[in-house]
Amino acid sequence: SQFGEPRDGRVISRFGQHADVESSDGGVYRCNIRRTIRSLVTGDRVVWRPAKENVQGKGIVDAVHERTSVLTRPDFYDGVKPIAANIDQIIIVSAILPELSLNIIDRYLVACETLDVEPLLVLNKTDLLDEEGLAFVNEQMDIYRRIGYRVLLVSSYKDEGLKELEQALIDRTSIFAGQSGVGKSSLLNNLLGLKDNQILVNDVSDNSGLGQHTTTASRLYHFPGGGEVIDSPGVREFGLWHLEPEQITHGFIEFHDYLGLCKFRDCKHGNDPGCAIREAVERGEIAESRFDNYHRILESMAQVKTRKNFSE
Ligand code: GDP
Ligand code: ZN
Repeated sequence: SQFGEPRDGRVISRFGQHADVESSDGGVYRCNIRRTIRSLVTGDRVVWRPAKENVQGKGIVDAVHERTSVLTRPDFYDGVKPIAANIDQIIIVSAILPELSLNIIDRYLVACETLDVEPLLVLNKTDLLDEEGLAFVNEQMDIYRRIGYRVLLVSSYKDEGLKELEQALIDRTSIFAGQSGVGKSSLLNNLLGLKDNQILVNDVSDNSGLGQHTTTASRLYHFPGGGEVIDSPGVREFGLWHLEPEQITHGFIEFHDYLGLCKFRDCKHGNDPGCAIREAVERGEIAESRFDNYHRILESMAQVKTRKNFSE
């Protein structure tokens, strides 16, 4: 055979017919992908073999291990397209500037619950907050702390809270998600020890002559203090799309205890008589913003569906 013994590795980038595989020995090898492999994305754990013939850094990916999680995006041709695999944690970044959107936070939390990936809420730009601002932000974040989510307040400018964030990144693969402008790339550049916002620069050089088709490719990076991150513009702004109403309900974890208590089995948790969830909101046990955002997310899904049916 022209290949050596099989080894374990992890895909750190995938482009066209090739994948950069980081071997268990730490080296990175540009590999071909066996034709029988139907899907291979950044983050996949693989079995690969190095090429024997002197040519350093080449090999072939033979098999893909089962994924513990997979991030997808809608695709015009395939319906769904995976963009990253084996993610353990989603860092949901928010900030007071451009605006603190609890609706967007709630959307990402639903995504986390659906994907069965652990969320970590990170509120960036604390340097912009005076005492009053800090009190406001803490009050908003208490909504999440109360239902069991972990929240970190950080500033990528002042290195505030970054030690705790670094700790939370160790031994797992994370992605940073959130609205544009909240400081995801600033945080990543800071935590990865990169200068001049290198994370925005796509350093996957493709000399195939097929042109640059790597701008949306996701890439895996190692944090100096431990842990990995998978990043790309698509990963950073992945969204909710195609969720069923049951999945959205499941995504609001503090609703679970009340679900069986609604008067009607098909309760829509709106103005239905005897809705245990609405009553819990009225008693102050469930945050109003969470209840409102639940309905906003349901409505936005219904609209996506209608538009889709319309175009078919
Ligand atoms: P992204 O779109 O989420 O990747 O956000 P960027 O990292 O591009 O940051 C958007 C803007 O917020 C830039 O002008 C950053 O310099 C600024 N920014 C990032 N982090 C902080 C922070 O901790 N404090 C302040 N005041 N501004 C920040
Ligand atoms: Zn109900």
